[in-house]
Amino acid sequence: MDFELTQEQRMFQRMVREFCDAELKPYATEVDETGTMRWEAVRKMAGIGLLGLAVPEAYGGSEADTITTVLAMEELGRTCGSTALSVAAHNGLGCAPLAHWGSQQQKEKYFPRLLSGEHLGALALTEPNAGSDLSGGVQTFATKDDNGWVIEGRKAWITNASLAPVITVLLRTDRYAGTSGFSMILVEPGTPGFTIHPPEKKMGLKGSPTHMLSFDSARVAPNQLLGAEGAGFRQTMQTLDSGRIGIGAISIGLAQGAYDEAIKYAQQRQAFGKPIAQHQAIQWMLADAALEIEAARLMVFKAAWMKDHGKDYTKIAAMAKLMASEVAERVARNAIQIHGSYGYSREFPVERIYRDQRLMTIGEGTSEIQRMVIARRLLKEAEFHVPAD
Ligand SMILES: Cc1cc2nc3c(=O)[nH]c(=O)nc-3n(C[C@H](O)[C@H](O)[C@H](O)COP(=O)(O)OP(=O)(O)OC[C@H]3O[C@@H](n4cnc5c(N)ncnc54)[C@H](O)[C@@H]3O)c2cc1C
Repeated sequence: MDFELTQEQRMFQRMVREFCDAELKPYATEVDETGTMRWEAVRKMAGIGLLGLAVPEAYGGSEADTITTVLAMEELGRTCGSTALSVAAHNGLGCAPLAHWGSQQQKEKYFPRLLSGEHLGALALTEPNAGSDLSGGVQTFATKDDNGWVIEGRKAWITNASLAPVITVLLRTDRYAGTSGFSMILVEPGTPGFTIHPPEKKMGLKGSPTHMLSFDSARVAPNQLLGAEGAGFRQTMQTLDSGRIGIGAISIGLAQGAYDEAIKYAQQRQAFGKPIAQHQAIQWMLADAALEIEAARLMVFKAAWMKDHGKDYTKIAAMAKLMASEVAERVARNAIQIHGSYGYSREFPVERIYRDQRLMTIGEGTSEIQRMVIARRLLKEAEFHVPAD
């Protein structure tokens, strides 16, 4: 990998960093306490291209490369986990599938609303009885008739569902065709028979709404199919590969945010006659945190670089997500340790960061599933003598 940020990427990183420090960081506690997104900031994001990262310029997007997207997600994660998750889901799960597989008519209809700063996009894969095992567990089904599709089923844990002008739903359109029997269908809120339930009460990421959905003979028009009938499972796997790079980037941001707080506190707090930063045990926690953040960041960059260069990035994306999310957990844990009792209080940001980062080893594939994806690739490479990248 011959990797260096371009001048354009550096400028974008600086601009997003300044934006996040001014518009998100001072309000992150309020977003967490009230469980409400700061829409003033989201509207401003529309103006600086943060809502159209995955959208072609022809439709008003910023059509960013993956490295640029990673830079943005890290800054969002560093300053407000809730906003980072919702904006990452908007770009990677809401807009990206529409950009890849949407018809011109679908793009013209939905992108203006998705890019307006008044809505955020959503993708519904998970169900009450199907998360890790989507191919075996998804039961939501669409039947085709002369007037379109009739949908029955339920979805669970859907980020931004109440904020989206349209939700992309993974479902079965053929019960007997295995993974070739899945499709994606676009469903608008207000469709008769379609219900978005109240937000879930969560441990963290409280400003990012998460909903259960139900479909009781919900009818949608035939032209709401996204891409080809039967392509839904392949579309899902492709979307998740890319989404995992985004979760990796948010994780690094959360870890960086916790680390920044910890090193600041360690220099101020006195114990045994000197700042606690002068005690070796604290120094080692700080050194380990900086080391692990840097290693995880490089791995996320490598995954992004491989995607941008058209290489197979499934394994490295799983590795990057697994590593970055587990680093975020260790760094946030130690940031609380460095704060002592104050770390356990809501007065300091590390308590919120600790709760927010906890999702990162679960969403878009748990750590166990990432290890499974990695191991499958390793075994295939060993079988076919594929050289390591
Ligand atoms: C805040 C939040 C936001 C979310 N946003 C979205 C969203 O926008 N869209 C969406 O579709 N989903 C979303 N999800 C759902 C999330 O992606 C799933 O919860 C996740 O994929 C795990 O699925 P599950 O909860 O059903 O766990 P399960 O699949 O039931 O897994 C339970 C446990 O079993 C383990 N396990 C399962 N299979 C294996 C195996 N083969 N080997 C070893 N261990 C295994 C898992 O790793 C886990 O530890 C969100 C969830 C949360 C909490």
